[in-house]
Amino acid sequence: MTSTDAWFKSSCHIDTSLWGVTSERLDNLEVLKEDIKADVAVIGAGFCGLSTALHLSERGFDVAIVDAHEPGWGASGRNGGQIIPGLKIMPNEILARYGSERGEQIIKTAGDAPSVVYDIIDKYKIECDLRKTGWIQLSKGPKGAETINSHLTQWGGRNVDVKELDREKISTLVGTDGYYKGLLDNRGGNLHPLKYARGLAKACLSNGARIFKNSPALSVEHTNNNWMVKTVEGSVKAKTVVVCTNGYTGNMLPNLSQSIVPVLTGVIATDPLPKELHEKILPNRQGIADTQRLLSWFGIDAKNRLIFGSRTNSQLESIDKSNFTFGLRRLHEILPQVKDIEIKHLWTGRVALTLDHVPHIHKLADGLYSGLGFNGRGVAMATTFGKILAKHCNGEIEENEFLPITPIKKVPLNQFRGSGITIALTWKRMMDTLQP
Ligand SMILES: Cc1cc2nc3c(=O)[nH]c(=O)nc-3n(C[C@H](O)[C@H](O)[C@H](O)COP(=O)(O)OP(=O)(O)OC[C@H]3O[C@@H](n4cnc5c(N)ncnc54)[C@H](O)[C@@H]3O)c2cc1C
Repeated sequence: MTSTDAWFKSSCHIDTSLWGVTSERLDNLEVLKEDIKADVAVIGAGFCGLSTALHLSERGFDVAIVDAHEPGWGASGRNGGQIIPGLKIMPNEILARYGSERGEQIIKTAGDAPSVVYDIIDKYKIECDLRKTGWIQLSKGPKGAETINSHLTQWGGRNVDVKELDREKISTLVGTDGYYKGLLDNRGGNLHPLKYARGLAKACLSNGARIFKNSPALSVEHTNNNWMVKTVEGSVKAKTVVVCTNGYTGNMLPNLSQSIVPVLTGVIATDPLPKELHEKILPNRQGIADTQRLLSWFGIDAKNRLIFGSRTNSQLESIDKSNFTFGLRRLHEILPQVKDIEIKHLWTGRVALTLDHVPHIHKLADGLYSGLGFNGRGVAMATTFGKILAKHCNGEIEENEFLPITPIKKVPLNQFRGSGITIALTWKRMMDTLQP
């Protein structure tokens, strides 16, 4: 098997996922088959790589993006499309970790992350079913309500438009009695993620960037003051390289893949819901995520289909129904009224977790950067990271402007990731039952 075959063996759900069948392909991309030069080479065409390229091309840089598959093929084209403000950790913890000066800037940038998405969509007229209807987070019990309370007090205390939801309001806004307490954060929203990724790619092309599909980077080497990104059939010579491969990071660079834990998430999409259901479930069309350790999330697309995500039964990227029984059970517990609605699409995607719950910016050497570890919050955050990475590449990042550059740290025992993830998921499931 050639190395190209190995890449394509990895299962692609883009074509059969709901997002794949409801979004137009980018037909005009080519495979990199020659040796080219650029100012910056970007590896990975998800939100992070595309946003990096977009912000660099806006500054006049000549950018070449290579993707092993196609723009949006990774998590960016498979996710729930929820535009979530902030990092996983709360403002007070950000201040405690990073100090008040840097901490305040991180809080501002993370809190404003949805507007970076909204501004790009507006500027480049990206049609991606954007809805600025807010983001809802729900807890099943008192333990999860601690997270809700922290969000309400810490973001609310900063004049953010965030509202508390009791059982009655949850029932009206969401159409379920399965939750205990919640919040509505009006900074958030939702969109069609693959339309957004492909729209970002078109915006990059319109600014003169080049995008190569089916062109996996096999190595990155420094020679004669330049970086050389070698793909299967060509290469890019550039002063700067940015690696944006997140949960799909391979072994091209030492230890990078070991700095995150890629966890598989399964997504279920139904047939369009009948009127009597879609008028009662999320009538205002927000996206929902819960606070369970084994998190579930859901939303409704532009044609009233329900999209529901949670862990898969195994860490195998199988789209056989047997890999989704946990998710289906959860879905029917939370929304029993959809039990008879046919399931039309099943797909999976990798979420990249970090041990400190924040994404990481690495400077692997002069002119070699990476950004990864979005912890399931990459629609707004990976887009924002692209803006920040472009500033790093251009040397215009201010002191303390955002998260610091950190050295790569291997997650302990990461070589046992398969069995380790299974043990961790079992523990989380038990704790969700004992302390919801
Ligand atoms: C099922 C699911 C649901 C999610 N829901 C949400 C949500 O609702 N809201 C939210 O904010 N976040 C969500 N996330 C997280 C979000 O999707 C990610 O954080 C975000 O898409 C990461 O973007 P990225 O560009 O860093 O990586 P990706 O989109 O994963 O892109 C990485 C790219 O790198 C390419 N690549 C890998 N190796 C190479 C190589 N050697 N050479 C060339 N190319 C390479 C891959 O082909 C891929 O296209 C979800 C994730 C999943 C999986």
